[in-house]
Amino acid sequence: MEPYKNPNLSIEERVEDLLSRMTLEEKVGQLNQVVATKWNIDEVRKLAREGKIGSRLLASSGLAGNEEQHTADVLEGNEVQRIAVEESRLGIPIINGRDVIHGHRTVFPIPLAQAASWDLDLVEKAASIAALEASASGVHWTFAPMIDIARDPRWGRIIEGYGEDPYLCSAMARASVKGFQGEDMSAEGRIAACAKHYVGYGAAEGGRDYNSVEITDNTLRNVYLPPFKAAVESGVATVMSAFHEIGGEPVTASYYLLTEVLKNEFQFDGFVVSDWEAIMQLLHQRLAEDSKDAALKAFQAGVDMDMKDQFYINHIADLVREGKVSEERLDDAVRRILRIKFRLGLFEHPYTDLELARKVHLHKDHLEIARRIAARSMVLLKNKNGLLPLPKKGKRIAVIGPMANEKRALMGSWTLDGRAEDVITIIEGIKRVAPEANIITSSSGLMDDMIYAARHADIIVIAVGESQIRSGEANSVADLELSPGQEELVETVHRFGKPVVVVVCAGRPLAITKIDAAADAVLYAWHPGTQGGLAVADILFGDVNPSGKLPVTFPRTAGQIPLYYNHKSTGRAIDEYFNKSHFLNYHDQTGKPLYPFGFGLSYTTFEYDHLKIEKTEVQKGEEVKVSVQVTNRGKVAGEEIVQCYVSDKVSSTTRPVRELKAFRRVHLQPGESKTVAFTLDEEALSFYGQDGKRILEPGVFTVWIGGNCLTELGVDFRVL
Ligand code: BGC
Repeated sequence: MEPYKNPNLSIEERVEDLLSRMTLEEKVGQLNQVVATKWNIDEVRKLAREGKIGSRLLASSGLAGNEEQHTADVLEGNEVQRIAVEESRLGIPIINGRDVIHGHRTVFPIPLAQAASWDLDLVEKAASIAALEASASGVHWTFAPMIDIARDPRWGRIIEGYGEDPYLCSAMARASVKGFQGEDMSAEGRIAACAKHYVGYGAAEGGRDYNSVEITDNTLRNVYLPPFKAAVESGVATVMSAFHEIGGEPVTASYYLLTEVLKNEFQFDGFVVSDWEAIMQLLHQRLAEDSKDAALKAFQAGVDMDMKDQFYINHIADLVREGKVSEERLDDAVRRILRIKFRLGLFEHPYTDLELARKVHLHKDHLEIARRIAARSMVLLKNKNGLLPLPKKGKRIAVIGPMANEKRALMGSWTLDGRAEDVITIIEGIKRVAPEANIITSSSGLMDDMIYAARHADIIVIAVGESQIRSGEANSVADLELSPGQEELVETVHRFGKPVVVVVCAGRPLAITKIDAAADAVLYAWHPGTQGGLAVADILFGDVNPSGKLPVTFPRTAGQIPLYYNHKSTGRAIDEYFNKSHFLNYHDQTGKPLYPFGFGLSYTTFEYDHLKIEKTEVQKGEEVKVSVQVTNRGKVAGEEIVQCYVSDKVSSTTRPVRELKAFRRVHLQPGESKTVAFTLDEEALSFYGQDGKRILEPGVFTVWIGGNCLTELGVDFRVL
């Protein structure tokens, strides 16, 4: 059989033409995503021949975040594709999906870290490299970006997303979708993206993964949905329906969320795939009585493709024959899937070039970008007496701690194709960046040896953190402190009276209150990826001036959670986060975060002044123009992320105390000043009201500009 082509027609015409030739069974086949492992090869080939596979899932478990996965086998993929294209009746190619979350062979920092770079160009670039490398392994479709707003660092999956802020998360969503898909998904090296996990998954009660969620419609609209809307507006090819239920309705069975909001209101024209076993879980959630009922509920709600469960392939045809599912709904789902296959150019280029992987995996340009984004994502949290950067010569520097020589953990969770042997450790990084430095370390990693090394040094660098298995899917924690022994090591070494630098490699904000007290300098390096050790060294020795800013609030203790900057005003004057309190949040703890959203230090200092607003009164719909002067007051060049926040003083619903609405990265030489201007449009000043409609209300607003969310440099204006 020749693969279906008809290249002279438009994509929509080809979709209709192909759809008109399909039998009921062939249509249902397109809805089926099968897990393709080395154990079920024969079965997969048979199904491909019968036209019963829409997609192959190249992962062998739903806990791909941390479990060992076999690599995507290109030869096998091409062979199955050949069967689908040449031996099935209509020759429809299969779309191969895999979790390419923060890189493929070249592993970039975890997404939460990437958000700390606030560098949209680099985030886009990293996604485009991930796409190119993954496409060389036969991957057509990644299950990324994860754009769940996360306000609870206990939740292990906070690593996969972009933090607590809807504006920053939306910007990151756009950048990564663009990076994966490009302008034209059919171009070489581009793959389809998947916005997940639609929607509200990050609000799991207690930070416990898969847990129930309670979100009001108002919060859903103003906080959790915006990144998905942004992804849809960026042309994201697919969306994944999440596991959880919101207020009585599992998202995977929610007609309101999947069809009314996503497909009708946002006009999403790609397809919805369920998360791993999410349709089956409707049984556990006690919404469906059997697999047929679950298939019916998910399909009618708007889930187009069934990931793994085989419920659709087993039941949808019968449900259509019984009149419980309309032909129209089935056609709609198939149309969506075919549309993405055409947009990807799969009908023209169904096979993977066997030579490509050798050429692109771990390409030196990719490693260079990985190093750059890793360095940009690291956040300098403390630097007493300008201890950092360290001298490259002279002083004797001990480099110790469980992360100093670590490879695997530096890649973090969700790295199916990264290999530990490719990772540069912190010690290796330091040796390469500062070869002349006088480094002592402990090769054994035993506590006594580390203390001995520290004893004989002038400066002590301790690399601590959490391993990749402590974050990611199904890896939540109840306590946010470092695992046992690490704080004690820092506190012990601190007693030697020598300067102590702590580098934290972690997948989430940890409550490092004790570390902060004991260390002279703290660099939060996250899980920085393949080139992480080099990036840490670039910063420690000043080759790169740190510029990362926190995309999420760092609490002092787990007991403060949830703690996020864009909270609502309380009725009584109580807001310790913003230093505006006549009451105390807690008896036993301040309500202040350890570090606020947007915070991060540099080796220089930036001064903000001359905040100007073009008009203090604007008509409704008119743009508001504000500017500020930023000056580098230090001795070295640096980059500052200038942040612009807005608050609506009085509105018809309660609103956050302030919200990020714009930001810009500026580079400044020592002594240099730049004027940074922002334009606030209707989108920036409006919000979703109680009726679910976006509104801009007349009244007074405040706009603040500064280097983190606590900035007090603000000015009022009125919308008439
Ligand atoms: C996760 C998804 C992932 C899927 C496929 C699920 O367990 O929740 O994020 O894309 O597995 O690996």
